[in-house]
Amino acid sequence: MYKVYFITFGCKVSQYETELLKSCFAEAGFVPADSSADADAVVVNSCTVTGSGDNKSVYAVRKLRRELPGAVIVLTGCMPQASPEAALKVAEADIVTGTKDRAKLPSLVLDVLADRRRIIDISPLSRDETFEEIAYSPTDSHTRAFVKIQDGCECYCSYCMIPYARGRFRSKPLADLAREAEMLAAAGRKELVLTGINIAFYGCREGKRLADAVELCCRTDGIERVRLGSIEPEMMLPEDLDRLAALPEFCPQFHLSLQSGCAETLKRMNRRYTPEEYASLTEQIRSRFPYASFTTDIMVGFPGETEQEFSESMAFAERIGFAKIHVFQYSPRKGTPAAKMPQIPASVKHGRADRMKALGDRLARSYMEGLVGRTVPVLFEREKSEDFHQGHAPDYTLIKISRKNSKKSLRNEIFYVTIEGVGEDCCFGTLTEAPAE
Ligand code: SF4
Repeated sequence: MYKVYFITFGCKVSQYETELLKSCFAEAGFVPADSSADADAVVVNSCTVTGSGDNKSVYAVRKLRRELPGAVIVLTGCMPQASPEAALKVAEADIVTGTKDRAKLPSLVLDVLADRRRIIDISPLSRDETFEEIAYSPTDSHTRAFVKIQDGCECYCSYCMIPYARGRFRSKPLADLAREAEMLAAAGRKELVLTGINIAFYGCREGKRLADAVELCCRTDGIERVRLGSIEPEMMLPEDLDRLAALPEFCPQFHLSLQSGCAETLKRMNRRYTPEEYASLTEQIRSRFPYASFTTDIMVGFPGETEQEFSESMAFAERIGFAKIHVFQYSPRKGTPAAKMPQIPASVKHGRADRMKALGDRLARSYMEGLVGRTVPVLFEREKSEDFHQGHAPDYTLIKISRKNSKKSLRNEIFYVTIEGVGEDCCFGTLTEAPAE
């Protein structure tokens, strides 16, 4: 039996697609390897969102080739799809494929294992591409499952290669989503996270809304929580928020991709909202979800970002009061408009990243301190330590309770916890009765 190992770069969509690939390889008779050193084949699922994403994937392939001369090395995903010429130059990869026809990857690996040769199979994405459905069964036993409901993006933010790697907007049909949600519930998943390249545009070609997908998942027997992955702010309309607010299973954690809190920087990024529109959306959300948390991605060092623009971005992040900020330093991606703009020195980018991260840490702490005294339902997950049970609240705060008073496993169950204190990246509390309605 051949062993396969996976290395994933990039976003939740990449991670979800790796889960699908794992299932496809298991179907084809492969078993998971404990490490790359132990594998007959290693699949590198690449990312291309920035230039550094590309470099990491290529570096990984080259390192694997040096360390594992006999293994089949696969380079797949966004990087070869967006930049086939660059991917073809990665001669260390035995197989190079893009974002299409992923289900046939195990058979390509078997071909190369049987008859050592190089396979290049990158099909261009057509204008009438449909959502690629890959049947799978979960290969892990987690409480939470990601479900990809959407692919493609046509927004063309000036720094991003994703539209070239993923093609046009397309959505998982509701009937397929219903089947997947039922399958995941039957496999013991209690929480679904709806994800995609740009889920705000879910159903835009079919006259559907993201709220349709959320409602369907919330109605699935056995699913107790549904949350959204990262979302672009401009497509969340008041009527969608009203529909989400009517769903008790919906978790009010909003990862609204900001990128910059400065109007001028946003314009150069070709983002489609102003800071004021973003702030107004958070107010509309707060009026419907008083316990909503806001998390986001912020890019620093975008071409032309002045100290004044960066300060505006910092001040805006403070104004929103994010519960968590993922900070990225801009790295130029060849083929995008931003790569041709005047660049910021690396030392300035590092300094700004450090300052934004420090702000993010301070805001996260202050958000968690604001939770002390509240009682929240926690969906408990796999025990990771001898000392604590842990799980997440609806707003995605990590909650830990001591195992001293409760030895039995709480895994995959929802219990109420009163929050009593704050740690580095979590809140601590004790089990309590459900509050009276
Ligand atoms: S919305 Fe912008 S950043 Fe996000 S995938 Fe589309 S082009 Fe890239």
